[in-house]
Amino acid sequence: MTQPLRADSFPMISHAQAWETIAQTVEPLPPSRVELAKAANLVVAEDIVARDDSPPFAAAGMDGYAVIADDPSAVRTLVGEQEAGLRRDYSISPGFALRIMTGGALPEGADAVLPFEQSVEHEGLLHPQFPIKPGANVRPVGQDIKAGEVAMKKGTPLGPPEIGLLASLNYSEVLVYPRPRVFVFASGNELVRVGAPLRPGQIRDSNTLALSAALRAAGAEPIARPDPVADTQTAIEQAIRTGFISADMVISTGGVSMGRRDLIKEVVSGLGEILVGRVAIKPGKPLTYALITGKPFFGLPGFPVSSLVCFEQFVRPVLRILAGHRLLWRPSMRIKLAQTLKHDPDRTEFQRVCVCCSGEGAVAYSTGGQSSGRLKSLVGANGLAVLSAGKGDYDAGEEVEVIFINLPELRE
Ligand code: AMP
Ligand code: MG
Repeated sequence: MTQPLRADSFPMISHAQAWETIAQTVEPLPPSRVELAKAANLVVAEDIVARDDSPPFAAAGMDGYAVIADDPSAVRTLVGEQEAGLRRDYSISPGFALRIMTGGALPEGADAVLPFEQSVEHEGLLHPQFPIKPGANVRPVGQDIKAGEVAMKKGTPLGPPEIGLLASLNYSEVLVYPRPRVFVFASGNELVRVGAPLRPGQIRDSNTLALSAALRAAGAEPIARPDPVADTQTAIEQAIRTGFISADMVISTGGVSMGRRDLIKEVVSGLGEILVGRVAIKPGKPLTYALITGKPFFGLPGFPVSSLVCFEQFVRPVLRILAGHRLLWRPSMRIKLAQTLKHDPDRTEFQRVCVCCSGEGAVAYSTGGQSSGRLKSLVGANGLAVLSAGKGDYDAGEEVEVIFINLPELRE
């Protein structure tokens, strides 16, 4: 009898090899045009060119008086008032000035705005109290951006200021990479969805909701299967096929290691091509990555910490590529350990730590027991300490690379 496809049917590859293999298979999703109001946190898929000058006319940068800066007259006669939003065609010559509000169109002839605070107005006459330079408090045409200028490069993530800039340039719609839609399901005969009664031997499925939250935090749109999938080939195959009908990616948890009921690899090899089946990392050794009809599939290990750490290490950067981001990696830094961390040199290990800042700088504390089933090792953690393969325990006081799992990606 031939052995079913299990974790040990695949070569053990390094974290770097696994990422390289995966990265080669993904590219940004086809972009589409969306309303600007729905584009926040997406990535723009075209260079944004200013169609007009902004501001479109020379405008007052302060409330005051439009004057000719080099006008030698000691007193100037006021010719009227220019409010923002109206445009009366005044013209200023030496000896004259115009009361003007911030944003009002600078009248012809004037080249500066004397602030109210620096002048006295009395019976229709302006008495400047301070000298002023040409151009002072004036926003010239195109000061922010000139027509034809590239306001924003393709690949820019749209945060609040970028959305504002697009609005100011009158982009009511914008070409963006879509939010990746990701189908997620848990597999395991022992699993029960939250809220349903538990029978002896059963446990709660926490992965579906934890991963849905991780997907949302990564800017993806989760499509979660509420009920766990049984450990049978038919049920697993049906879940994966259903997922790919509407999603850009499918994620499962559980069923990827060595047990008799670990059938994900077997099923997936019938539907597509498994590119990664075993990685030398802890947690996450049996991580599975495949292409199914050209789309990415991740078989994450079942233990809750393993699935979230693998998500962080592999799924999240893939989602960022799909969504058009260039920056894929969160910042990491060498941080001093507050305590000894036990480490088996056979694999790279991602231990959950909490980095705190004291008078002496940043130090990393372990979050306690590091078992892959103990979600509390991740609750409250703000870092993953990367303990290298080939090295044993890390001593208190030693420095270790820590990936900051709450900080946004800063590296390509
Ligand atoms: P597996 O990878 O299927 O062998 O699962 C390993 C262990 O992880 C199981 O024995 C469960 O205790 C746990 N587990 C698997 N799936 C889930 C899940 N969706 N939610 C919570 N725990 C899980
Ligand atoms: Mg299982």
